[in-house]
Amino acid sequence: MRAAAYSRRRAALVRDSAAWFGAGRELREHARRAANCVECGRALASRRTPYCSRGCRWRFHGRYFWDAARRVVLRRDRYTCRSCGIRARQSALEVDHIQEIANGGAPLDYDNLQTLCRPCHRAKTVRFLRGRRNPLLPRSLAILPPTLDDGPEWFPA
Ligand SMILES: [Zn+2]
Ligand SMILES: [Zn+2]
Repeated sequence: MRAAAYSRRRAALVRDSAAWFGAGRELREHARRAANCVECGRALASRRTPYCSRGCRWRFHGRYFWDAARRVVLRRDRYTCRSCGIRARQSALEVDHIQEIANGGAPLDYDNLQTLCRPCHRAKTVRFLRGRRNPLLPRSLAILPPTLDDGPEWFPA
């Protein structure tokens, strides 16, 4: 894919994520002032923190803050690309939105996130952009991650 298209796509992702993080911060501040756990709503003994437990903090962070969600998803997927099955170091893996945010996918919903290796992630993004340019291709097909049935062009050696 052309580098310009890729960086435009990345810029859009960052914009969407920024709005989401802002919402997370606001919810957290509101919960802290009301002394209710921001994740489960239970009343809190103090206003020092907006979480009733470590578990609630972990879940809330995973849903609202990208770095935390990324760690949760990588661990859940056992550092394995869900498209080609390769196992790799954290730095060689990327966390992908199964349904693109631009197509209404949730930015930080674990069910909409998956681990992909870099080549698989790029291939999927190429497919996504190509699908948008070509209206004959159904959108639902355009956003599916590549599978082995797609042939070797999606799986560079
Ligand atoms: Zn809680
Ligand atoms: Zn892969």
